[in-house]
Amino acid sequence: MFYKVYGDVPKYRSDLLNDVAHGFSTRHGGVSTCEHTASMNLAFGRGDDDETVIKNFEIFARSIGADSKRGLMLNQIHSTEILTVTESEHGLGVYQKTELALDGYVSKTPGTLLCVRVADCVPILFADTEAGVIGAVHSGWRGSIGKIGKLCVERMCELGAKRESIRAAIGPCICKDCYEVNEDFVETCEILGGKQLCSRFIEMADDGRKRADLKLLNKLVLLEAGLDEKNIDVSPSCTCCEPNEFFSHRYHKDKRGTMCAMIALDPKI
Ligand SMILES: [Zn+2]
Repeated sequence: MFYKVYGDVPKYRSDLLNDVAHGFSTRHGGVSTCEHTASMNLAFGRGDDDETVIKNFEIFARSIGADSKRGLMLNQIHSTEILTVTESEHGLGVYQKTELALDGYVSKTPGTLLCVRVADCVPILFADTEAGVIGAVHSGWRGSIGKIGKLCVERMCELGAKRESIRAAIGPCICKDCYEVNEDFVETCEILGGKQLCSRFIEMADDGRKRADLKLLNKLVLLEAGLDEKNIDVSPSCTCCEPNEFFSHRYHKDKRGTMCAMIALDPKI
């Protein structure tokens, strides 16, 4: 079950991952001062200078008990590419500029901090603490229908994780009621994911309106990947329904900051 941690740096956590340093940020607890990015904006180029974004990265990392110097934060491109992170990638996209862009990470290097950024898209954090393997993905609708969650599970297994031991937390993101989609969206999803899968997460209302449930889609993908249902937690929070708590692309349009989901491996493992 998800729960909120109050305090200077509020965040959401899943009790499934209680033995791992992790957290899903809100829009509060940082040092951004622009009206629309205040105050915990984790993305460059949204109105804050780079120093402010890095400071926010450090504040949030510290608040979950992780070392920001061992973190990375690459550009995201709605792909299904996943990077295996070792020590040589520590600091990339935060303290060192990089052109690398992708949407998922796995690691078994102690101390590694993984970070994905979202503002309506689906953040998913993964851990198999027995094997000492973690993962994180940014799953927008393209990543979701491309099954990036399943690809992440597979990559974690290559590093020694076991499907039956992997726990996953699907974080705050846009809810079905806020995510109305058009016919083009449905057609593209049917081509990419098949009609049967689409009929399960796209709701066709009597008035002709269509809504997509990305939380459910990602859960279905993780079940297909072989995860046990009891090892999948889904946040009830919606970024668009709660614009004072979260940044939402759909609600705030371009006048917004960006949140993050972070997970770190214990340096001692
Ligand atoms: Zn909503």
